[in-house]
Amino acid sequence: MSMWNTPIQLIEEDKNRIYIKRDDLIPISFGGNKARKAVNFYREIDEGGYDCVVAYGSSSSNHCRIISNMAAMRGLPCYIIAPQEASEKTFNSEMMELFGAEITVVPVDAVHDTIEDKLEQLRCEGKKPYFIPGGGHGNLGTAAYIDCYNEIRMQEDEMGMHFDYIFFASGTGTTQAGLVCGQLLTGDDREIIGISIARKNPRGRNVVLDSIREYLGDRSDIDDKTIFIDGYTGAGYGKENVEIEQTIKDMLINHGIPMDSTYTAKAYTGMQKYVEKQGIENKNILFIHTGGTPLFFDDLWKM
Ligand SMILES: *Cc1c(COP(=O)(O)O)cnc(C)c1O
Repeated sequence: MSMWNTPIQLIEEDKNRIYIKRDDLIPISFGGNKARKAVNFYREIDEGGYDCVVAYGSSSSNHCRIISNMAAMRGLPCYIIAPQEASEKTFNSEMMELFGAEITVVPVDAVHDTIEDKLEQLRCEGKKPYFIPGGGHGNLGTAAYIDCYNEIRMQEDEMGMHFDYIFFASGTGTTQAGLVCGQLLTGDDREIIGISIARKNPRGRNVVLDSIREYLGDRSDIDDKTIFIDGYTGAGYGKENVEIEQTIKDMLINHGIPMDSTYTAKAYTGMQKYVEKQGIENKNILFIHTGGTPLFFDDLWKM
């Protein structure tokens, strides 16, 4: 359980009632789902007496920004292995430098070996490194979103209502895996729908299924509850991008909420289209804002 519950706010009462859960307001390093996950990883780091951290992610990675911030808070050295293919300067990469992370940029196919070499080198120096998988993948990340699911249930009780749908941006799938595990463990009736921001089916969904099975073991009800929509991943510079940019402007102007084009605004736009296409009406819909505020500023620069 976390020490904070993120607020849920009503955004729109039209065909449906749309609410947003503000995980972007988690009070650690600009928040977001990577902050929720990072808390679990750092609990293990603190309790296990690890003395340095190795992480993987691109220069725009929210995950690496938070991991390097939390390492700096503890005075722990942080080593980030970053793929050359995504190494442009961003607000996140600037912050990683500010936090003193040592960033090694290598071609994407050399990432795996570079991580292994780094861990080996640190162990040879007598260090006790902790490796955090990309995006906070794994059971600790999944557990963070089981906690989030239970937090939502508690908030439903307080608000005296029930969310028929939960939507969010799905990437490496840990956020979705945690939410689905939460639902399976409680037996709640609702639809949990991950809007893919990049991966296509079947691979994208299979990664979510693997994470769920890794946590819960195999169960016959997992398949049914895992809904991974890949129709709104965006296709470069087309009409979809104009719509995503419009969502960013609308959200900021009308609600004061920052969203970004890679994750939250893309998923929110996808959700709107999905709801329309499926003819969903008169329902309570919760969208989880998974963070990425520094990416909003990268987008703002280009808008
Ligand atoms: C990483 C990220 C996601 C995707 O989360 P996964 O658990 O990898 O599916 C969504 N939104 C933001 C802002 C992120 O940084």
